[in-house]
Formats: sequence, C-alpha cells, structure tokens
Amino acid sequence: MNMSRARERLVVIGGDAAGMSAASQARRLKGPGELEIVAFERGHFTSYSACGIPYWVGGDVTDRDRLIARTPEEHRARDIDLRLRTEVTELDLDGQRVRARDADTGEESWTPYDRLVIATGAQPIRPDMPGADAPGVHGVQTLDDGQALLDTLERTRGRRAVVVGAGYIGVEMAEALINRGYEVTVVNRGSEPMSTLDPDMGRLVHEAMEGLGITMVNDAEVTKILTGGDGRVRAVVTEDREFPADVVVLGIGVRPETALAKAAGLPLGPHGGLLTDRSMRVRGHEDIWAGGDCVEVLDLVSGQDRHIPLGTHANKHGQVIGTNIGGGYATFPGVVGTAVSKVCDLEIARTGLREKDAHRVGLRFESVTIESTSRAGYYPNASPMTVKMLAEHRTGRLLGVQIVGREGAGKRVDIAAVALTAGMTAEQMTTLDLGYAPPFSPVWDPVLVAARKAAAKVRGTS
Ligand SMILES: Cc1cc2nc3c(=O)[nH]c(=O)nc-3n(C[C@H](O)[C@H](O)[C@H](O)COP(=O)(O)OP(=O)(O)OC[C@H]3O[C@@H](n4cnc5c(N)ncnc54)[C@H](O)[C@@H]3O)c2cc1C
Repeated sequence: MNMSRARERLVVIGGDAAGMSAASQARRLKGPGELEIVAFERGHFTSYSACGIPYWVGGDVTDRDRLIARTPEEHRARDIDLRLRTEVTELDLDGQRVRARDADTGEESWTPYDRLVIATGAQPIRPDMPGADAPGVHGVQTLDDGQALLDTLERTRGRRAVVVGAGYIGVEMAEALINRGYEVTVVNRGSEPMSTLDPDMGRLVHEAMEGLGITMVNDAEVTKILTGGDGRVRAVVTEDREFPADVVVLGIGVRPETALAKAAGLPLGPHGGLLTDRSMRVRGHEDIWAGGDCVEVLDLVSGQDRHIPLGTHANKHGQVIGTNIGGGYATFPGVVGTAVSKVCDLEIARTGLREKDAHRVGLRFESVTIESTSRAGYYPNASPMTVKMLAEHRTGRLLGVQIVGREGAGKRVDIAAVALTAGMTAEQMTTLDLGYAPPFSPVWDPVLVAARKAAAKVRGTS
C-alpha cells in the first residue's frame, strides 16, 4: 500500500456490470475507512442493462431508467467516488497510477491506485466501408446508442429497416423493429442466422423469422451503405443487391476493449481479451483484476479460452473480484457456453459445443435431433420444439444442446447447462427427476427425449 495514503485505494475502470459489481461488492466487505473506491466511466450511465436495449427500442419497456440498476448518485451514496464522463487514457503499471481525461473540461490527471480493476467491456465492430457512419446507421451497445436509435425512429418515421448481422443482437433488434411497424430485412454474412447454433438449427430460426415477415438474406457481405442528398442513409448494398433503408442497425459482433491493457503490456489471449486466473486476477499481476467483456473465459467443455461477451458472466466476474478485493475468497471456474434469446415468440437457446467446436478440439461425437412439444400433446397451446444434442462418441459425455421452439423452449437449456457442468453422460440425463405436469411438458421432457436418443446412439442401439 502507498504509505502516503491512510487507506488503500481501489481504482475501477468501467462503470457497468463488471466494474460496478466489483466496486459494490468490495464496498460491502470493506467500509470507506478501510478502502477508498474511485470508479471511472466515460459514458453518462452506470450499472445499466444493455441486454434490455432491444426491448426498450421495441417498446416492451417504455422507460429508459428502468434499465438502470443503480444510478451514479446511488453509487456515490455508498462512498464510491464515481467520475462520470471521464475516460482512462493510460495505465502506468510501474507507477501504479492511471491517467484520466474529463470529457467536459478536457482536463487530464493521474490517479494512483493500490488495486486496479479493468472492466472496460467490449467495443462493437464497425464495418470499415463507405457510409458506415452516416446518420441513420446505429449500433446498440450503450444506452446512448439506444436513445440515438429511438430518436431516429421517431424523427424519420420511416418504413424500411435493415439489420446487418444475424447474431442474437441482430435477431432481437429485428424483433424490436418489427414491433415498431418497420419492414425488416436482415443481411447476414453466414449461411444461416444465429451462428452460435449449428446451421441445421439456424435454418429453423431462418424459417421462423421469414414466417414473422422478416426478409432474411444469408451469405451476403455488405460492401457499402448509400446515403441520399440529405446525407442520411438510403440503402445497404451487398455484392449483388441493394436494400433500401430508412434506418440501419449494426449487430455484427464485438471485440474486447483492451487497447489500454495492451499498451500497458498486460497479457492478452488469442481473442484479444485479458487473461486472468480463477480469482479474476490478471495473470502475473498481483494487484490488478479484470472481468466482463474485456476478458477471455475458460470453456469448461472444450478446455480452451474463449471470448464470450455476456452480462451474466460480467456480473459474476464483478462479484468474484469484489469479494477478493474485500478480503474474502471467490473464484470463477469457467463457463459451459449457455445463451438464450428470442425473436418474437420464437425462443432460441444453446449450451456447450456446436458440431464445429467439437471437431476443432478433436472430439468425436454422436448427434441427435428430436421433435417434441412444450406441453403434453393434448394440453391446449402445446407448441413444437426441436432439441439437438451432442454426446461424446463411446463415453456418452454430454457435449452440447441447442433448442428452438416457442414458449417454454428457451430456458429448458438450463437443464443441459447443469448436466454439462456436472459432467453427466446422456445416459445419466435420461433419469433426471424433472418436474412434470401436462401444462408444463410431455411426460418425457423434450430434453430427456433427446438424451434417450443420444444415449441409444452412443450404445449403438438406436
Ligand atoms: C443489445 C445488447 C443486448 C444484450 N443482451 C444480453 C443478454 O440478453 N444476455 C446477456 O448475458 N448479455 C447480453 N448482452 C451483453 C451484456 O450487455 C454485456 O456482456 C455486459 O454489459 C458486459 O458488461 P461489462 O461491464 O463487461 O462491459 P460494458 O457493459 O461494456 O461496460 C464497460 C463500461 O466501461 C466503460 N469504459 C470502457 N473503456 C473505458 C475507459 N477507458 N475509461 C472509462 N470508462 C471506460 C464503457 O463506457 C462501459 O460503460 C447484450 C449486449 C447488448 C449490446
């Protein structure tokens, strides 16, 4: 600890899920007399839910402030010295200090730290092409982005929207724009939407989205965005087609925001994310922690480090970091790759490995796909559900599950997530004591039907 200060100082860079969870948990464990906490956030908001942006833009959530879990004032009331609109521009590891610039005054100053948390999140990938920054072209990474998009929708009152990218943010934004009354086209580089699924499951999403009136364009590379005489977006152009657009939403992925960390020489993984140990301490640096979208996480199924930018991980990382800084002990063991999303009434879920992931790490597997229903077949509103399961060849160890269906389909993936975490085989899953009553599932839950089929295939009796 720096002897010129009476108490330790924790500096946090990034005021959202990972950073403020870490700060809040550290504060719970250590009072202001023991620990001073300074948090830098370059934007206008703290502890906000980017996950809620599609539902705010789509009109399901009407009040932006409902997406803010804790305001700057609430953090300050808990003795966290929060510096909004202040960007950290440099890390000086030898001097244990950060340089920050106040966006309003332009003033720069150095702040020393005893402990540092890097929670800078991820940055959206912006296509390097003409027109990408034109008015009417929007990302949806932050609340400010969401507000700018809503302003455009309000101002232009257009008819046609093009979403570039068909990952979960792309499909959720397609729903939001459909709900706003737009004609929506989704332009996707991949062969099917939702590349986090195998293409055969992505095909089901594609068909369902077309059924909702969304025009899906796959295998299409956007080459430029055209603007009109007023400078605003007019169309999205691919190699061979042009799609008229009054508004364009970009959802083509993110990369870890680690420029500061890289410049300071902190260790980065193959995906550009910071590398940490299980206590979320940056490898090789006793007093520096990192969490959220700026780090790589251990995939417990493949054994490899991956970049999986999800709020569910960021909050847990923050909790672990704050506990350790507060004098407790916590670890983050890794993830199994669970995610759930929806487009209108279609629910999409996945956990574990896709076929190509299993191939990449040299695992042989059996793959089965089953059709079932969300409730007993005779019960009103039973809807179809497709479950795909991968189990390891010979051992039968569960490797992954993907589910596409209507109400009640998505969160069933959690059964598989728990089974994956526990290292269960498909055979063991067949006897899981899951709840059953006709309004909730058929007597054999769809996940168990898939497990039975996978187990039989592994045994060679299917
Ligand atoms: C539209 C959308 C929908 C999503 N839906 C889901 C979902 O359904 N489920 C899910 O699990 N996840 C979802 N996510 C992902 C989730 O929002 C992120 O994983 C989560 O916000 C990551 O938290 P974080 O704290 O690591 O990073 P961020 O939330 O990105 O926060 C990082 C903060 O650091 C600040 N910052 C960066 N650099 C500096 C600097 N140098 N100085 C000062 N401040 C800095 C940024 O301004 C930012 O506020 C969604 C994301 C988006 C965009």
